[in-house]
Amino acid sequence: ILSVKDVGKTYESAGNSLTVLHRINFDVEAASAVSIVGPSGSGKTTLLGLCAGLDRASTGSIVLNGICLDTLGEDDRAGVRNQYVGFIFQNFQLLPTLTALENVRVPLELRGERNSRNRALELLDKVGLADRSHHYPLQLSGGEQQRVSIARAFSNSPRILFADEPTGNLDAETSDTIERLLFDLNKDMGTTLVLVTHDMDLAFKTQRIIRMKGGAVVSDEVTQPKEL
Ligand code: ATP
Repeated sequence: ILSVKDVGKTYESAGNSLTVLHRINFDVEAASAVSIVGPSGSGKTTLLGLCAGLDRASTGSIVLNGICLDTLGEDDRAGVRNQYVGFIFQNFQLLPTLTALENVRVPLELRGERNSRNRALELLDKVGLADRSHHYPLQLSGGEQQRVSIARAFSNSPRILFADEPTGNLDAETSDTIERLLFDLNKDMGTTLVLVTHDMDLAFKTQRIIRMKGGAVVSDEVTQPKEL
């Protein structure tokens, strides 16, 4: 479902250029679960953003669900994201002036879904937050905000879900709940999972671990996933 070939990324700012990814290569099979691990600054978040079509690679090629992202403009990449991709950000990125319900409802409305209110409530119910639907993000705990962001990421029933540190900064019990939600969706719906994490316990629950260092892939191993 995802093919990354010779991908590089160079950031340009104020006349300086910084290459943060060098010739990255890997493929991800549909319905599988993969972790990307590595030290801080090794380029994991950048790589996830490129794969999800949030930003464009400087070199190389990324094909997502059969669509080559390389030459697409911003609007077309947004179209691909709306249709096929879910993304869970490290710091949730909920809109602070909207309630939990509205945060989940906005992308549904943008896609012209008729019954957006009921569908958003259904999604919140799935993550165990039906009774918090009218709370604003600041009135929710970190784990609850993360669950809203999962409900939002699932609003388009994505083929592939990218999650950047989905359990970072959460206590053990809340992390467990979030992990279960993600792996249930992977098993029940066949949603492909690509996780960036520092948590090796979480990484070993996926079938494959890609290790990065200094902007390059240093190993790519199939693992025997641990039981949840
Ligand atoms: P962490 O585990 O700390 O989140 P990471 O492995 O996800 O780190 P990235 O966030 O991808 O690493 O960052 C890789 C490098 O790219 C870092 O050196 C960072 O400073 C740089 N970088 C990231 N985004 C930008 C940007 N928009 N402009 C310039 N440099 C950037």
